[in-house]
Amino acid sequence: MLLQTPLPADYMRLSRASLDERIAVAKASLGERLTILGHHYQRDDVIKFADYTGDSLKLAKLSLERPEAEFVVFCGVHFMAEGAVVLAPPGQQVILPDLTAGCSMADMADPDDVDECWEVLQDVCGDQHVMPLTYVNSAARLKAFVGHSGGCVCTSGNADTIVKWALDSADKLLFFPDQHLGRNTAYKLGVPLDQMLVWNPYSELGGHSAEALRRARVILWQGHCSVHSRMSPEHVRRARETWPGVKVLVHPECPFETVQLSDYAGSTEFIIKQVQNAPAGSSWAIGTEIHLVNRLARQHPEQTIVSLDDCRCQCATMFRISPQHLCWVLEELTDGRAQNVIRVPEEVIRWARVALDRMLERS
Ligand code: SF4
Repeated sequence: MLLQTPLPADYMRLSRASLDERIAVAKASLGERLTILGHHYQRDDVIKFADYTGDSLKLAKLSLERPEAEFVVFCGVHFMAEGAVVLAPPGQQVILPDLTAGCSMADMADPDDVDECWEVLQDVCGDQHVMPLTYVNSAARLKAFVGHSGGCVCTSGNADTIVKWALDSADKLLFFPDQHLGRNTAYKLGVPLDQMLVWNPYSELGGHSAEALRRARVILWQGHCSVHSRMSPEHVRRARETWPGVKVLVHPECPFETVQLSDYAGSTEFIIKQVQNAPAGSSWAIGTEIHLVNRLARQHPEQTIVSLDDCRCQCATMFRISPQHLCWVLEELTDGRAQNVIRVPEEVIRWARVALDRMLERS
């Protein structure tokens, strides 16, 4: 495991203007050798330097379109940088400006716990075809596990297609790490709630009887996003009272009851398109990360756009990618040192690509 080197103290003392200038100078001097990627949830003082913005999969695939770039600086979180390594052309190095930028949801599915769950399911449901599906928000080792076990990756944008294919192909799904995306998607595709159960990795048999595990159609990992799981049905009711006529637009990582009460649910790209295609005067309460909501509000002053969650919760780990860290990794590169390079073992890359290719073939 890599540990984040403390930043030289000088970086912490730089003014905003100096940081901006030094980042711009370092970026210009690296030229075509560098691509900077910025996730939609990234803070404004960092994303303004991104060559491309998008969701995690879109960004990982973008690095393929710039194979001449020696370095990809990924302004996102750890699993996203790993995903870029899995898809990267030979020789390209992927850098995460702050190694402590993890994802609380991805971390809720520890690969050893998932291995253990898988062994139990093989034992208890050995005569059934159980397919593992992982949300793209997961460690590369888990993507490799599903690739090796005949499963597939999905994103919030293609979850309907991939989960439908999996339901048509297998007796039972093991979906991780986000229980909400799994539940919302399977329900939309016709699986009743009483055919889904949540696997608690800290309880024997995940907290269920062997018979219940055998009966379940979908086993959901007990994981969630700390940002989206805050969006509650009460927030939806309050938004409708406060802004009559408002449309509620949420991400499918939000809890089931919230999604059921909303007008629309979809991926970050879906949320952006809904707003882009809406007429002037439209009014939205959006249930996703606050940097994206604020950016949409600034880009569309002709519409009313508010955060569904009145706490305006940000992704705390994504926020760790600061201008200071971005400046540091870029200046280190200009001095010939690649810091914070994300490395994934070859065997993991091989099987994670199998899982990702399976997804790309089907979506
Ligand atoms: S918003 Fe949620 S799922 Fe996305 S990186 Fe942050 S914690 Fe992870």
